[in-house]
Amino acid sequence: MTEVTAYIGLGSNLDDPLQQLAGAIAGLASLPGTNLIAQSPFYASKPVGPQDQPDFVNGAVALRTQLAPLDLLDQLLAIEQRHGRVRRQHWGPRTLDLDLLLYGLEIIDLPRLQVPHPQLPQRDFVLQPLLDLAPDLCLPDGTALASLRTACPDNQLRRLQPQSRSGAGFPPAGPC
Ligand code: ATP
Ligand code: CA
Ligand code: CA
Repeated sequence: MTEVTAYIGLGSNLDDPLQQLAGAIAGLASLPGTNLIAQSPFYASKPVGPQDQPDFVNGAVALRTQLAPLDLLDQLLAIEQRHGRVRRQHWGPRTLDLDLLLYGLEIIDLPRLQVPHPQLPQRDFVLQPLLDLAPDLCLPDGTALASLRTACPDNQLRRLQPQSRSGAGFPPAGPC
């Protein structure tokens, strides 16, 4: 069975965001055919979109998974549902948001799934945790995330945890 390294972005700004993210990571670690291989530090950030909502807590994890992309998306949405996610307002407050940021080097453009996540280049709260996990990470087109990070808007990131927890042998050796 083919295994792929997938990167998931996590965000929360309601109902104890740190607990939401911790619970989500436990859920991701127990997905079928999936191993959690690394977890980034968490960051506080200013919201994108409506500003009349609490700051976010964000992070990212790396998974090795046998799940196909749409199956993985369905699992992410199911974990969000278990965390009481309600979609009331575009980019509004949420208990938990799980985005499929990268799925190996695949480019996916389906009505319900675009990978790499289209907003990734504009979001420091996504790029920074990904770079903590894998400093040499690149988009499928070869663009280095480190170069995107220097150019992207400032969401006033504040690192909340001093140490990242990385699995043995992670990040994988590998070029852009
Ligand atoms: P953004 O996508 O700008 O971060 P959001 O996370 O608030 O916004 P949601 O309401 O969580 O958006 O998701 C809306 C839909 O986006 C999902 O139901 C899903 O079908 C679709 N979607 C498309 N690409 C992705 C992706 N890479 N990861 C997660 N959802 C995606
Ligand atoms: Ca999102
Ligand atoms: Ca989402």
